[in-house]
Amino acid sequence: MNRIKRSIQLSSMLRKLREDMAAELAATSHRPQGWLPRTVFVEEDEYEAGFVPYRVQEIHEDRTFTGTHLLTGKKVKMPLTEINIDWLNLLIDIYACECKEQNLEEEEVRRCDHCGKPMKEGYYLGGEYACSDECCLALYNGDEAQMKEDLSHADEDDGECYYTDWESYITD
Ligand SMILES: [Zn+2]
Repeated sequence: MNRIKRSIQLSSMLRKLREDMAAELAATSHRPQGWLPRTVFVEEDEYEAGFVPYRVQEIHEDRTFTGTHLLTGKKVKMPLTEINIDWLNLLIDIYACECKEQNLEEEEVRRCDHCGKPMKEGYYLGGEYACSDECCLALYNGDEAQMKEDLSHADEDDGECYYTDWESYITD
Protein backbone atom coordinates (compact mmCIF):
# COMPACT_ATOMS: atom_id res chain seq x y z
CA MET A 1 0.00 0.00 0.00
CA ASN A 2 1.39 3.39 -0.88
CA ARG A 3 1.38 6.44 1.32
CA ILE A 4 -1.58 8.12 -0.36
CA LYS A 5 -3.77 5.03 -0.08
CA ARG A 6 -2.85 4.64 3.57
CA SER A 7 -3.61 8.29 4.22
CA ILE A 8 -7.08 7.90 2.68
CA GLN A 9 -7.64 4.73 4.69
CA LEU A 10 -6.73 6.45 7.94
CA SER A 11 -9.02 9.39 7.15
CA SER A 12 -11.90 7.06 6.55
CA MET A 13 -11.25 5.20 9.83
CA LEU A 14 -11.22 8.54 11.62
CA ARG A 15 -14.49 9.58 9.99
CA LYS A 16 -16.12 6.31 11.04
CA LEU A 17 -14.89 6.69 14.60
CA ARG A 18 -16.34 10.19 14.74
CA GLU A 19 -19.68 8.93 13.46
CA ASP A 20 -19.70 6.14 16.04
CA MET A 21 -18.99 8.64 18.81
CA ALA A 22 -21.76 10.95 17.57
CA ALA A 23 -24.19 7.99 17.58
CA GLU A 24 -23.15 7.18 21.15
CA LEU A 25 -23.81 10.76 22.28
CA ALA A 26 -27.15 10.89 20.45
CA ALA A 27 -28.26 7.83 22.42
CA THR A 28 -27.72 9.49 25.83
CA SER A 29 -30.93 9.94 27.79
CA HIS A 30 -29.81 11.36 31.12
CA ARG A 31 -28.63 14.91 31.73
CA PRO A 32 -26.30 14.43 34.70
CA GLN A 33 -25.18 17.50 36.57
CA GLY A 34 -21.74 18.71 35.56
CA TRP A 35 -21.96 17.33 32.01
CA LEU A 36 -23.49 20.16 29.97
CA PRO A 37 -22.96 22.94 29.12
CA ARG A 38 -19.38 22.18 28.20
CA THR A 39 -16.76 23.82 25.99
CA VAL A 40 -15.52 21.80 23.00
CA PHE A 41 -13.41 22.62 19.96
CA VAL A 42 -14.56 22.51 16.37
CA GLU A 43 -12.16 22.34 13.46
CA GLU A 44 -13.02 25.31 11.30
CA ASP A 45 -10.61 24.56 8.49
CA GLU A 46 -9.23 21.08 7.97
CA TYR A 47 -5.96 22.23 6.47
CA GLU A 48 -5.22 25.21 8.66
CA ALA A 49 -6.22 23.20 11.75
CA GLY A 50 -7.87 26.21 13.33
CA PHE A 51 -9.87 25.20 16.37
CA VAL A 52 -12.78 27.31 17.52
CA PRO A 53 -14.39 26.93 20.95
CA TYR A 54 -18.11 26.24 21.19
CA ARG A 55 -20.22 25.89 24.30
CA VAL A 56 -22.42 22.79 23.90
CA GLN A 57 -25.81 23.36 25.55
CA GLU A 58 -27.87 20.42 24.37
CA ILE A 59 -27.31 17.17 22.47
CA HIS A 60 -30.09 15.82 20.27
CA GLU A 61 -31.17 12.38 19.06
CA ASP A 62 -30.57 13.38 15.43
CA ARG A 63 -26.82 13.57 16.16
CA THR A 64 -26.69 17.35 16.30
CA PHE A 65 -25.99 19.76 19.12
CA THR A 66 -27.09 23.27 19.91
CA GLY A 67 -24.59 25.66 21.38
CA THR A 68 -22.81 28.98 21.17
CA HIS A 69 -19.79 30.03 19.15
CA LEU A 70 -17.71 31.41 22.02
CA LEU A 71 -15.89 34.05 19.96
CA THR A 72 -18.91 35.55 18.20
CA GLY A 73 -21.69 34.60 20.64
CA LYS A 74 -23.67 33.21 17.71
CA LYS A 75 -26.14 30.40 18.46
CA VAL A 76 -25.71 27.32 16.27
CA LYS A 77 -27.14 23.87 15.64
CA MET A 78 -24.71 21.55 13.88
CA PRO A 79 -23.73 17.89 13.53
CA LEU A 80 -21.84 16.39 16.46
CA THR A 81 -19.31 15.05 13.94
CA GLU A 82 -18.02 18.64 13.50
CA ILE A 83 -16.57 18.48 16.99
CA ASN A 84 -12.92 17.51 17.16
CA ILE A 85 -12.62 13.84 18.05
CA ASP A 86 -10.79 14.31 21.35
CA TRP A 87 -13.67 16.38 22.64
CA LEU A 88 -16.25 13.92 21.41
CA ASN A 89 -14.40 11.29 23.38
CA LEU A 90 -14.31 13.57 26.43
CA LEU A 91 -18.08 14.16 26.24
CA ILE A 92 -18.71 10.39 26.21
CA ASP A 93 -16.27 9.84 29.03
CA ILE A 94 -17.70 12.55 31.29
CA TYR A 95 -21.23 11.33 30.59
CA ALA A 96 -20.38 7.80 31.71
CA CYS A 97 -18.52 8.99 34.81
CA GLU A 98 -21.19 11.47 35.94
CA CYS A 99 -23.98 8.91 35.45
CA LYS A 100 -22.06 6.42 37.56
CA GLU A 101 -21.22 8.94 40.24
CA GLN A 102 -24.79 10.23 40.44
CA ASN A 103 -26.18 6.66 40.43
CA LEU A 104 -28.25 7.28 37.31
CA GLU A 105 -29.61 3.98 36.17
CA GLU A 106 -28.07 2.69 32.97
CA GLU A 107 -30.60 3.00 30.15
CA GLU A 108 -31.34 0.05 27.90
CA VAL A 109 -29.96 1.39 24.64
CA ARG A 110 -30.90 -0.66 21.59
CA ARG A 111 -27.60 -1.80 20.10
CA CYS A 112 -26.50 -3.68 17.01
CA ASP A 113 -25.74 -7.25 18.06
CA HIS A 114 -22.79 -7.31 15.71
CA CYS A 115 -20.95 -3.99 16.13
CA GLY A 116 -22.54 -2.51 19.27
CA LYS A 117 -23.65 0.78 17.69
CA PRO A 118 -26.79 2.43 19.14
CA MET A 119 -29.76 2.07 16.76
CA LYS A 120 -32.89 4.06 16.02
CA GLU A 121 -33.47 2.23 12.79
CA GLY A 122 -32.26 -1.00 11.29
CA TYR A 123 -32.98 -4.70 11.14
CA TYR A 124 -34.94 -6.62 13.74
CA LEU A 125 -34.09 -10.30 13.39
CA GLY A 126 -36.35 -12.30 15.69
CA GLY A 127 -34.77 -10.95 18.88
CA GLU A 128 -31.52 -9.59 17.51
CA TYR A 129 -30.67 -6.22 16.01
CA ALA A 130 -28.43 -5.23 13.09
CA CYS A 131 -27.58 -1.62 12.20
CA SER A 132 -26.61 -2.11 8.54
CA ASP A 133 -26.64 -4.56 5.64
CA GLU A 134 -23.09 -5.63 6.54
CA CYS A 135 -23.93 -6.28 10.20
CA CYS A 136 -27.12 -8.09 9.18
CA LEU A 137 -25.17 -10.43 6.92
CA ALA A 138 -22.59 -10.96 9.66
CA LEU A 139 -25.31 -12.09 12.08
CA TYR A 140 -26.29 -14.64 9.44
CA ASN A 141 -22.64 -15.76 9.30
CA GLY A 142 -22.57 -14.67 5.69
CA ASP A 143 -25.53 -16.84 4.68
CA GLU A 144 -27.05 -14.35 2.25
CA ALA A 145 -29.62 -16.80 0.88
CA GLN A 146 -31.09 -17.46 4.34
CA MET A 147 -31.06 -13.74 5.12
CA LYS A 148 -32.95 -12.87 1.94
CA GLU A 149 -35.40 -15.70 2.56
CA ASP A 150 -36.17 -14.46 6.09
CA LEU A 151 -36.44 -10.81 5.03
CA SER A 152 -38.74 -11.71 2.15
CA HIS A 153 -41.43 -12.45 4.77
CA ALA A 154 -41.00 -9.02 6.40
CA ASP A 155 -44.43 -7.73 5.38
CA GLU A 156 -46.32 -10.79 6.56
CA ASP A 157 -48.19 -10.75 9.87
CA ASP A 158 -45.92 -13.34 11.44
CA GLY A 159 -42.73 -11.96 9.83
CA GLU A 160 -39.99 -12.02 12.46
CA CYS A 161 -37.25 -10.34 10.43
CA TYR A 162 -37.68 -6.88 9.02
CA TYR A 163 -36.26 -3.38 8.64
CA THR A 164 -37.89 -0.73 10.80
CA ASP A 165 -37.40 2.42 12.87
CA TRP A 166 -38.10 3.16 16.51
CA GLU A 167 -39.08 6.33 18.38
CA SER A 168 -35.90 6.42 20.40
CA TYR A 169 -32.57 4.71 21.03
CA ILE A 170 -33.88 3.53 24.39
CA THR A 171 -35.84 0.28 24.54
CA ASP A 172 -38.98 0.17 26.67
ZN1 LIG B 1 -23.77 -2.86 13.35
